[in-house]
Amino acid sequence: MPDTDFTLTLPNHTQRLLLHSCCAPCSASIIERLVNSNIDVTIYFYNPNIQPQKEYLLRKEQNIQFAKKYGVTFIDGDYDTKAWLNRTKAFADEPERGQRCKICFDIRLEQTARFAHQHHFELFSSSLGISRWKNLEQIHACGQEAASHYLNLQYWSFNWRKQGGSQRMVELAKQEHFYQQQYCGCIYSLRDTNRWRLAKGMDVIEIGADQYQ
Ligand code: SF4
Repeated sequence: MPDTDFTLTLPNHTQRLLLHSCCAPCSASIIERLVNSNIDVTIYFYNPNIQPQKEYLLRKEQNIQFAKKYGVTFIDGDYDTKAWLNRTKAFADEPERGQRCKICFDIRLEQTARFAHQHHFELFSSSLGISRWKNLEQIHACGQEAASHYLNLQYWSFNWRKQGGSQRMVELAKQEHFYQQQYCGCIYSLRDTNRWRLAKGMDVIEIGADQYQ
């Protein structure tokens, strides 16, 4: 059973948290837990990895609605897909959890750290690590590296899967009727998902050819 009464405390007497959110399904149980713990949390949605734009807008809108329901401020970051592709395209053929994903986490957490510094947050974290498909150590290393460029800024390497966090994530996805994402987010993960679907005799997920440029 998930422990929804579990109370969180921010480390090192920090007063507020900037939470990078990748999507509503991953961040919902974290937001619920933070709000129930009376923690001052702000959501930062910065995910230029997600393509096509239709998918990006769908994921973002669900996150906006959930944040609104819990009275949490939602900051909408840039959607600079060109910059994301420029840094990752050399690793297009890497498998998930490989070097491309490390760069993807770097891009998102570097910008989160920059925003945190500019807006006087002393602590940030990310919902990325709650998914069992992701390498938690890889994400924490990227977060710590991103924070290391700023004085008075720390990355909080809390394991959001703990104390029933993963189970609560699944429960909230059902309760809130979040739509089921079919791929991680980038065009490469979509390509790999489609290859897998074809091999299984399933329909591919259609997007415009221009999205692959
Ligand atoms: S598979 Fe997911 S984590 Fe890896 S590069 Fe693509 S969007 Fe980023």
